[in-house]
Amino acid sequence: MAEKYDVVIIGSGPAGYVAAIKAAQLGLNVACVEQWLDDSDSMQLGGTCLNVGCIPSKALLDSSQKFAEVRDNLTAHGISVKKSEIDIPAMLARKDQIVSQLTGGIAGLFKHNGVTAISGTGKVLVGAKVEVTDNKGSVQILDASNVIIAAGSVPVSIAPAPIDNEYIIDSTGALVLTEVPVRLGVIGAGVIGLELGSVWRRLGSEVVMLEALDDFLPMMDIQVAKEAAKIFKKQGLDIRLGARVIRTEVKNNKVEVTYTSAGTEHTELFDKLIVAVGRRPRSEDLFSSDSGVTLDERGFIYVNDNCETEAPHVYAVGDVVRGLMLAHKASEEGVMVVERIAGKQAQMNYDCVPSVIYTHPEIAAVGQTEQELKADGIEYKTGVFPFAASGRALAANDSDGIVKMIADAETDRILGCHIIGPSAADLVQQVVIAMEFGSSAEDLALTVFGHPTLSEAVHEAALAVDGQAIHVANRKKR
Ligand code: FAD
Ligand code: NAD
Repeated sequence: MAEKYDVVIIGSGPAGYVAAIKAAQLGLNVACVEQWLDDSDSMQLGGTCLNVGCIPSKALLDSSQKFAEVRDNLTAHGISVKKSEIDIPAMLARKDQIVSQLTGGIAGLFKHNGVTAISGTGKVLVGAKVEVTDNKGSVQILDASNVIIAAGSVPVSIAPAPIDNEYIIDSTGALVLTEVPVRLGVIGAGVIGLELGSVWRRLGSEVVMLEALDDFLPMMDIQVAKEAAKIFKKQGLDIRLGARVIRTEVKNNKVEVTYTSAGTEHTELFDKLIVAVGRRPRSEDLFSSDSGVTLDERGFIYVNDNCETEAPHVYAVGDVVRGLMLAHKASEEGVMVVERIAGKQAQMNYDCVPSVIYTHPEIAAVGQTEQELKADGIEYKTGVFPFAASGRALAANDSDGIVKMIADAETDRILGCHIIGPSAADLVQQVVIAMEFGSSAEDLALTVFGHPTLSEAVHEAALAVDGQAIHVANRKKR
């Protein structure tokens, strides 16, 4: 008789592989089905995040930032470098090595924890069964007590700029460019546009970003977004808001892009064009029509707060369901679901999920923005501290940006923290922890922070909430 699994997971991105390892640690018999194949048709674990997302993009961001530092910023430290050069194939090889180290690491962790990895495309059938079709067309049916769909997301495409993988590329194509484009166009000044646009800008491209919206980074706190726009302009990112691309044409090895802005038509020529206009759930052909699983109006698999679909014992987590498309949101949902399957009282705190844009400086946020609180009619107070007043940031010659802390006007409970500045991703995590513990701004203000550290900017912003900052003049509160 065929083996019955406690849990079958479809997809091995951060949602799926973390859930699989956690399930095995909890003593469940678990299989993880993955359709991604490497060049030699072997199963490739890790999903978007490890293969073409978080990890390779950060590898290129780090390499390009080091290059830009050597080229542009060392003279302030009294260091002169006669000639700096970037070896693009070496930079790409380093990135690929990191990806294979990490994806291979997951295979090792699966083995170590006793997770069964199954190569093929999974589909949920009625009664929590999973049909798996491998790349040679053979089909097997897995019998499961519970199924977790973790199928992830894919880039959105737009009709005026169809991806040809040569001149017009998506985020995956932007990770494998073998030479620095002289002129690089980017459609979409969102997270991917800014990160990958920054990589190639640092390496020497002239980068023009065409953003349809009139506002820059509308999901970020408005003060931080304004600060970011100033800093990116200084770095030479040419961000054009209210730009609607209506046509592209590849001719003479260039991409001609026509867009309208304020009612006028404009044309630009680029060597490459990155389309980064969002991602959509990969929810096609994932379940049979009688499975009981449903989609919401935007094509995400419908789930409740506990990631339960409408089919009994079928769950869905990560990018394929509502909410932020972030690796850590995906993996925490996976952990919550398997803990619930194992009988634990687990819940996800969606109010404390940080987001980061890994530009330089980084932009990081948790909780509500000032404009959201205003719209909700919630009374709040803010404390802002500029890195220009941080001894550690000045010592590092890296002092652009601010920390902004927002607390409830009455209770002082921290409602949000928004940072643009050096190591913002790591700094905001301190506030995420504080918020998880229901901390007030005063709790952080009373905490001892080491000196000289960038973290002191978080401390000062917490002090500034009540006009108590030491190293900056306190402003009158709103
Ligand atoms: P995915 O990682 O997309 O994994 C889904 C997996 O399911 C894939 O391996 C897919 O092959 C498999 N699959 C799909 N359908 C089937 C099927 N029917 N059968 C079998 N297998 C199937 N997030 C961050 O938090 N930080 C970052 O710095 C960051 N950087 C990013 C940079 C880029 C360029 C991109 C594109 C994304 C980035 N993200 C980042 C987003 C992050 O990658 C996603 O939020 C995350 O990967 C979602 O995880 P997931 O497991 O839900 O889906
Ligand atoms: P995004 O939503 O961040 O940005 C897309 C941008 O494109 C938006 O500003 C949008 O207004 C604009 N846009 C949409 N249609 C357009 C059009 N036709 N013309 C011009 N502009 C248009 O999406 P993304 O940058 O593609 O990233 C996708 C997802 O991947 C994000 O939601 C994010 O969650 C995830 N991601 C996260 C990280 C990170 O955590 N550091 C990094 C990369 C990607």
